[in-house]
Amino acid sequence: MTTGSSGAITPVVGPGVDVETVRTDFPVLHQMVNGKPLVYLDNASTSQKPQAVIDTLVQYYTMDNSNVHRGVHTLSQRATDHYEEARAKVRRFINAEADEEIIYVRGTTEGINLVAQTFGRQNVGEGDEIIVTAMEHHSNIVPWQILCQERGAHLKVIPITDSGELVMEEYERLLGPRTKLVSIVHQSNALGTVNPAKQITDMAHGLGVPVLVDGAQSAPHMTVDVQDLGCDFFVFSGHKLYGPTGIGVLYGRADLLNAMPPYQGGGEMIKSVTFEKTIYNDLPHKFEAGTPDIAGAIGLGTAIDYISNLGMSNIYNYERELLEYGTQRLSAIEGLQIIGTAREKAGVLSFVMEGIHPHDIGTILDTEGIAVRTGHHCAQPVMDRYEIPATARASLALYNTREEIDALVKGIDRTIEVFGRGL
Ligand code: PMP
Repeated sequence: MTTGSSGAITPVVGPGVDVETVRTDFPVLHQMVNGKPLVYLDNASTSQKPQAVIDTLVQYYTMDNSNVHRGVHTLSQRATDHYEEARAKVRRFINAEADEEIIYVRGTTEGINLVAQTFGRQNVGEGDEIIVTAMEHHSNIVPWQILCQERGAHLKVIPITDSGELVMEEYERLLGPRTKLVSIVHQSNALGTVNPAKQITDMAHGLGVPVLVDGAQSAPHMTVDVQDLGCDFFVFSGHKLYGPTGIGVLYGRADLLNAMPPYQGGGEMIKSVTFEKTIYNDLPHKFEAGTPDIAGAIGLGTAIDYISNLGMSNIYNYERELLEYGTQRLSAIEGLQIIGTAREKAGVLSFVMEGIHPHDIGTILDTEGIAVRTGHHCAQPVMDRYEIPATARASLALYNTREEIDALVKGIDRTIEVFGRGL
């Protein structure tokens, strides 16, 4: 795949993912770490950036840098055009109905906080309930706890089975007249479980309850169609989607966004200001106070071009096959237990080993040039559910290969050599 300075992408791959070609697009992958070729398996934390995205950022700061929506001069108009074109790319990527439903935020975390502090404060009162799942990232727990504390409301949690699937009968039981919002993770970063977001949404809508879907992990790995899902809010982060850090998206249904009060006050989000009265701007600007991450938004647009060009279903199938291979290979290691074995699963191999702390696994793997994450993955309740302090987690992206899985297995064997088995 090649790029021009505008970040326009010329596809050089046919159907499926030609991983060797794809890898040439990611400069960071081609380096030695601790004397070994880098094997980057920490993609659920953040993914690497293709040259096209890097070029877009350089191009923007080299030629176009200017503030958006404010100037009549050429650079400002150019920056505004690129910034708004990227919004349209996001809209098409998740199949939203209108550009105005796409709000730029810093990332998933800010998107959820925005909804909690606006929709939440407006609609959640004493004794009301918000439903989340037992496999949420902290960013889909704490904002609701803050809101519940302020309002005297309650957080209700859908439990999970040993394999890491939601107990849907419990969800049905939790849904009730006090439920004001259901906020669920689409794909768990700790377990890899892909939740039945459409079914969850349908059930909530049966009672007129809106649904927020945390798509931080799903958006990079599968086709997302917010109209098909039917959800009311959908949030994701650019940096996990091969785009820059500091930019993310909150999708919201226009009628809900219009009814919500603003999140932050300042420039951009107003039509007019006097000391007596301020009139807020229209969507999406009402929720975008201050100078945004302009380069980040444009870079996100290029990242979306990049993966759309490969095809989300191609990416999904390729990664699924890789996950199956990784699951087979890791399951064959004596003393290793995979945490998260849901039937619908993507991108994540979380595991623990008898007698070896996950941090020690991560440290030895690093000496082999292999990057995995160890810890609670910002999902402490998941660790509590399995009564473990942490896991080691290898998480996949479209540029990972079977050979890298083999390297991971070799690295785990080396860990066993160093620490012994079950000591
Ligand atoms: N939700 C999930 C499922 C995640 O995996 C993450 C990031 N690990 C987040 C939310 C938070 O994303 P960010 O830090 O980009 O705001």
